[in-house]
Amino acid sequence: MPCGVDYDLLREGWLAVKARIERAAMAAGRDPGGIALLAVSKTFGPEAVRAGHALGQRAFGENYVREAAAKMDVTADLAGLQWHLIGPLQGNKAKEAAARFAWVHTIDRLRIGERLSRSRPAELPPLEVCVQVNISGEASKSGVPPEEALPLAQAIAQLPRLRLRGLMGIAEPTADVSRQRAQFGILRRCFDGCRTAGLPVDTLSMGMSADLEAAIAEGATLVRVGSAIFGRRRNAGHLPEPD
Ligand SMILES: *Cc1c(COP(=O)(O)O)cnc(C)c1O
Repeated sequence: MPCGVDYDLLREGWLAVKARIERAAMAAGRDPGGIALLAVSKTFGPEAVRAGHALGQRAFGENYVREAAAKMDVTADLAGLQWHLIGPLQGNKAKEAAARFAWVHTIDRLRIGERLSRSRPAELPPLEVCVQVNISGEASKSGVPPEEALPLAQAIAQLPRLRLRGLMGIAEPTADVSRQRAQFGILRRCFDGCRTAGLPVDTLSMGMSADLEAAIAEGATLVRVGSAIFGRRRNAGHLPEPD
């Protein structure tokens, strides 16, 4: 491995996260196989993606289109990589995002969905998308309010070249597990509402390094984990802060 990535440390982190997912699933009486791990590689270099790939990780999450595209270019030799955009998406980046990512988790308005739909290249499969819901109630957070999740999901599901997969949410940073669970529970109920309304959604994208157990207890099918795998993010200073 090139310098900059401690492969053994990364392996330990990745295995520990796998074990946490498995334990949380068992505790909730769920099949661990029903919970996907998205490795969030934002701010880490392509060597981190290479090291993750060598461990068997294939799905990687990024917050910034530019940063991700550069990383994709230099890891194009790795087979089976699947890139997920999990950061807020500006309209002027929608075209590039639609061309480069397999998934976008952060659709929070119809307009951005329409742009992605128009821009998804014909030779690629439909873009897999989630609607982002603001479950913490914090004004600073992106996402539609819970009561708007179903109407937006229904509208997004109509768009060609997109495939609606589910909902995504971010809980407020708190060590209080009951608060974490209450917020993830809101997303879970929105998800159930989408299914009841007949939408073929199968993805509940919630849970990060600090709260994946609570998310799994509330039904997460995909957890997005960065620092518990790759370590602390140190070089984010020049980038806009993620939500
Ligand atoms: C950065 C980020 C993550 C990963 O956060 P960690 O706490 O490092 O696991 C997950 N989801 C989103 C939307 C993020 O921006």
